[in-house]
Amino acid sequence: FSDEKKVYLSDNNRRLGPKTAFKKIRDDSTSAIVQISEGCVGKCSFCCTRFARGRVHSFPIEEIEREVKEALSEGYKEILFTSQDTAAYGIDINSNLVSLLKRIFLIHEEFRLRLGMANPNHIRSFENELVPIYGNPQMYRFLHIPVQSGDDQVLSDMRRDHTIKDYLATVSLFRKNIKDLYLCTDIIVGFPTEDENAFENTLKLVEKIRPDKINLTRFSPRPGTTSIKMKQIPSWTVKERSRQLNLLRKKISFEINQSYIGRDFNALITEKNIDGTFTGRLYNYKPVIIDNAKIGTFKDLVIEDATSTYLVGR
Ligand code: SF4
Repeated sequence: FSDEKKVYLSDNNRRLGPKTAFKKIRDDSTSAIVQISEGCVGKCSFCCTRFARGRVHSFPIEEIEREVKEALSEGYKEILFTSQDTAAYGIDINSNLVSLLKRIFLIHEEFRLRLGMANPNHIRSFENELVPIYGNPQMYRFLHIPVQSGDDQVLSDMRRDHTIKDYLATVSLFRKNIKDLYLCTDIIVGFPTEDENAFENTLKLVEKIRPDKINLTRFSPRPGTTSIKMKQIPSWTVKERSRQLNLLRKKISFEINQSYIGRDFNALITEKNIDGTFTGRLYNYKPVIIDNAKIGTFKDLVIEDATSTYLVGR
């Protein structure tokens, strides 16, 4: 993240300077990171990020649009929208993510856009308008929607503001309408009120929704959070639950990725790897490794192999 051009200072959520310029992931990459907002409106009982980031501050659509155009004019082909919660975009400026995306897709350039983490409680309010946007070939069919637990009581203790029923409804809406949706979620195991039954519910949820990817975290109490005051689960139990869920997530990811073998795709080549191979992204952001390619170009390929974390193409 070395290409910062401007300085953004924030003090108690009052902006003191211009928006940060887009950042590149690496020198040999075609991806530009564009921050669309900062902060969140959540009050999750396990999280201390919110203390540092404060309330939501959304950057104006015009500034984001200008930054995307700037990145594209410099040759970047992949735009990564980031925020603590992209679904909370616009809450403070009487706008929303759908308006932002519609504006960005008016730009007549060939590029791909990946939406970063979007919390389920906010996405619900405009999901019916968001789904059609995923029909735009420039939008990666990638949805990162953290669930954190498969148990309603734990979700309530986490102060997550969504239920499993809400979550399932959103996932089902996207799955029904978006072929090959790449579903990514986050799960915390070992939250203080997660008993055996609650953990079983998490395993059941994972088996039901079969995410392409799960970011798995073992709970650890953070200073200043309310969950630090709760009675903690023994660390060996947390470790064992993490082990079980890890096995399950790998199995599911492997099975999903194996189902891509033999299929033809077009991929955007996004970066060169240390071993000389290249990474490309399919239309749903699945990573595919290929031998010969040029960064920033689109390439037709067939999937020949797959692991739990990437596909191999030729
Ligand atoms: S976990 Fe995310 S939504 Fe919850 S308080 Fe932290 S930053 Fe906000």
